Amino acid sequence: MAEKKGVEKKYSIGVDLGGTNIVSAIVNCQGKIVNSLKVPTLAERGKEATIKRIIETIHENIIQSTIALDDIIGIGIGAPGPLDVKRGIINFAPNLPGWIDVPLKKKLENEFNMKVVLENDANAAAWGERCFGAGQGVNNLVCFTLGTGIGGGIIIDGKIYHGNNYGAAELGHMTVNKDGPRCNCGNYGCLEAYSSATGIKNRIKNRIKEGIKSKFLNFDNDDELLQSLRLKSIFESARKGDKLTKGVVEEAISYLGIAIANIANILNPEMVVLVGGITNEGNKLLIPLRREVKKRAFYSNCKSLKIVIGKLGGNAGVLGAAALLWIPNNCSC
Ligand SMILES: [Zn+2]
Repeated sequence: MAEKKGVEKKYSIGVDLGGTNIVSAIVNCQGKIVNSLKVPTLAERGKEATIKRIIETIHENIIQSTIALDDIIGIGIGAPGPLDVKRGIINFAPNLPGWIDVPLKKKLENEFNMKVVLENDANAAAWGERCFGAGQGVNNLVCFTLGTGIGGGIIIDGKIYHGNNYGAAELGHMTVNKDGPRCNCGNYGCLEAYSSATGIKNRIKNRIKEGIKSKFLNFDNDDELLQSLRLKSIFESARKGDKLTKGVVEEAISYLGIAIANIANILNPEMVVLVGGITNEGNKLLIPLRREVKKRAFYSNCKSLKIVIGKLGGNAGVLGAAALLWIPNNCSC
């Protein structure tokens, strides 16, 4: 039998490499996960141990799926950056101690003897939503990943925009207030310091320290309790009229709106997709957010701009990583 060409192969493997978990999924070209595995990264055991874990997880994933290697086109990895997409090297990863200039693509190609593509994790999530989620068929799209931190992915003319040396789309580190709080990156007033889960919690903590009382949240200076608090309870408390949380939540939404208005005026995308924990708020997030964007962006840039919540939930990254291997819907499955 003649060797199968890429587009005739039916599956690819997506890997989402995070500081806490490694997820590996075998995905068909319509975005259906056939089999997936999630294991703790155990990053504290060091770089080599983590690489070994990634390799073992992919092997186990293939075995469990019972899919023939011949039917798998390759492996796509979404990883924290900064990284070199072309050479497949992770330059540095704050949540993976010891990872300096790691040639992950080469290591996996040697191990599995198939094509490997490396991509920034937020770009992978954007690509996932573009291929299989809220952004299907949309060629100009910007995705915000709103989690512990804030990342982003920019799709222009149907392609991921990387910038000069793969540093584009750091949407969380857009300065939205020159006198704002210090961000993890060292700058002041970044979007991440206001609208990420960590930013929201830190701002609540600081207000409590300043002596502002909350009607519903009662933890004084207990940092651990604050960090374990779910965003849901914070938003609920704000809705019940608690002044402290209401102020912080309104600010988080308002600064996110400022960031989206900036993006709308600079890139004029067709769609902004939001993914991550905060999007569980649904319309309670979207309605004030759209109002803020409308107030600030050019009318012509925001009148047809769709601001939506992603459809893939926590799977956006792993599906996007798998989809890096092919142009969606251009295969025979
Ligand atoms: Zn920053």
